[in-house]
Amino acid sequence: MPQTWMITGANRGIGLALTIELLRRGDHVVAAARNPWGGALGELAAAHPGALTPIELDVTSDASVAAAKEALAGRAIDVLLNNAGLYGPRDRQSGLDVDFEAWREVFEVNVYAPVRVAQAFLPNIEAGQGRKIATISSRMGSIGANPGNALIYRSSKAAVNMAMVVFGNAVRARNVSVLLFHPGWVQTDMGGGGADITPAESAGGLIRTIDGSGMAESNSFRDYTGEPIAW
Ligand code: NDP
Repeated sequence: MPQTWMITGANRGIGLALTIELLRRGDHVVAAARNPWGGALGELAAAHPGALTPIELDVTSDASVAAAKEALAGRAIDVLLNNAGLYGPRDRQSGLDVDFEAWREVFEVNVYAPVRVAQAFLPNIEAGQGRKIATISSRMGSIGANPGNALIYRSSKAAVNMAMVVFGNAVRARNVSVLLFHPGWVQTDMGGGGADITPAESAGGLIRTIDGSGMAESNSFRDYTGEPIAW
């Protein structure tokens, strides 16, 4: 029985690799992106009519989320994957020269949006069998494992960890599990060409780990292979 996954930021990077791998194994994907019709996602949609549902979604916009929610009303979703993310400017993240406007923008995408999207599509998740909400955080958000520079990005990932754990507490009684992941250091526009692993390797590991997760793993923070990461 194919599962239905909804993935934000499905048009490139890790989100696109997840979409490709899920379609390959016969699952259905609601591929959410600011422009879901162009590029690689457009080609995939043409090649997989029926299995891929492109949906326009700017995760920072209440109006865009409301429109997507209406378009998907009544559609069961087994796994919601909050993947869309932003790093912010590579400079001005040291703590001595923070770009506050950029910090706000990164929080919109990395912190507020996963909660906004999870809230909006909770009825779809409750209509599904999988009942999982996974959010791509980062090891860079771990205070215990890896403090360093990149104030804007690190603080956003630390904040989304806490936000989704509180969300997980709120939906525990509804039997919905909430999972947080570090996807590895991945060769994408964000990770750069010199990163450790390919998007396909990251996607394969994430899917395996999410497949094997349920309520017992809710509110855990792990890497794509399932190894726990310090908060
Ligand atoms: P990319 O920069 O390659 O892709 C980012 C994706 O997020 C794009 O699809 C982009 O869409 C989307 N996005 C950004 N803002 C919005 C928005 N407002 N609404 C909808 N979509 C948006 O990043 P990666 O694939 O590398 O990263 C995916 C996730 O993994 C992120 O959360 C990132 O923080 C995390 N991560 C990545 C690591 C890595 O090494 N690559 C390491 C640790 C964590 P658009 O094309 O429209 O801009």
